[in-house]
Amino acid sequence: MAIERLVEPTAESNDKEEERIEISLRPVTFDEYIGQEHLKNNLRLAIDAVKKRNDGSSLDHILLYGPPGLGKTTMAGVIAHELGASLRVTSGPAIERAGDLASILTNLQDGDVLFIDEIHRLRRAVEEVLYSAMEDYKLDIVIGKGPAARSVRLDLPHFTVIGATTRTGSLAGPLRDRFGIIHRLEYYKEPEIEQIIKRTAGILKTEIKPEACELLATRSRLTPRIANRLFKRVRDYADVNGDGIIDTVIAKNALDLMEIDYLGLDPADRNMLNLMYENYGDRPVGLTTIAALTGDEPTTIEDFYEPYLMQMGLLARTPKGRVVTEKGKKHLEEDKRSKK
Ligand code: ADP
Repeated sequence: MAIERLVEPTAESNDKEEERIEISLRPVTFDEYIGQEHLKNNLRLAIDAVKKRNDGSSLDHILLYGPPGLGKTTMAGVIAHELGASLRVTSGPAIERAGDLASILTNLQDGDVLFIDEIHRLRRAVEEVLYSAMEDYKLDIVIGKGPAARSVRLDLPHFTVIGATTRTGSLAGPLRDRFGIIHRLEYYKEPEIEQIIKRTAGILKTEIKPEACELLATRSRLTPRIANRLFKRVRDYADVNGDGIIDTVIAKNALDLMEIDYLGLDPADRNMLNLMYENYGDRPVGLTTIAALTGDEPTTIEDFYEPYLMQMGLLARTPKGRVVTEKGKKHLEEDKRSKK
């Protein structure tokens, strides 16, 4: 059975209060958006150029890819803000039919930004409508049925698509080709995560000691969403078990309670590595086999577990499958020893 994960970098819960906090934490400007300097520099330049030209042309379509929780949605909001444009948010699976996309597109204004999350999950028929819309701002629709059916071309406003995906590999070539700017979001550096935690503490009016902030940063999987989520849990712990101030003792106890180890791994990560190693030793294991072992979907393994475990050098991908690395084995052994 799959283990429910605190560190899973998916969207937040439906809780209204959580949602309010989540919105308050989202950076709105480039200056508030910490890290990803290379991406920010490129985007600043592109946005300044559009503003300077001021000839009605829109910003190139942008494809952002990388593991969840690194700030793709947030960046779409920042871009719209910096352009002084409206942002419309949707996702690949939410657009069921070509007609749904047509209605979104015809309701846009010149210069608007359309954010499509999980763009690799767009249906083929929808994708095809998007091609010509992105390429020459035209919408081809078929009116009527059978022999009386005729095709009509509508003009669309000049908008910018920002697509987000956890994997560019699953994106159809023709769709990928329509993005003028393609950029991978990198895992953050620890000092950047520290800065994000400090910012979050400031917004949520919670005192956190510098060493506690450092400790939280080392366990946040180099991912802002997880940093914020751990921060909130540690804050709860500090409120219940102390005077609300987060120091190292409080942070360490809270993290231990959540079973998050010093590399930021949670029980589900360790369980997966353990199952792989115990059942297959040094032999490569296929994705579907790993999924069967843990009880997760293969896409969950690919999107949520693997990227960080690979980034940390605990898991490697070979043409024949995944293997636990020497460092991974060592980590598992340490974990076992610490529990004796
Ligand atoms: P993605 O779309 O890549 O899954 P999000 O944009 O939803 O990630 O980011 C998750 C959360 O992390 C955001 O709500 C925001 O609060 C925080 N966050 C993301 N990137 C940054 C950043 N660069 N600086 C500060 N906070 C960030």
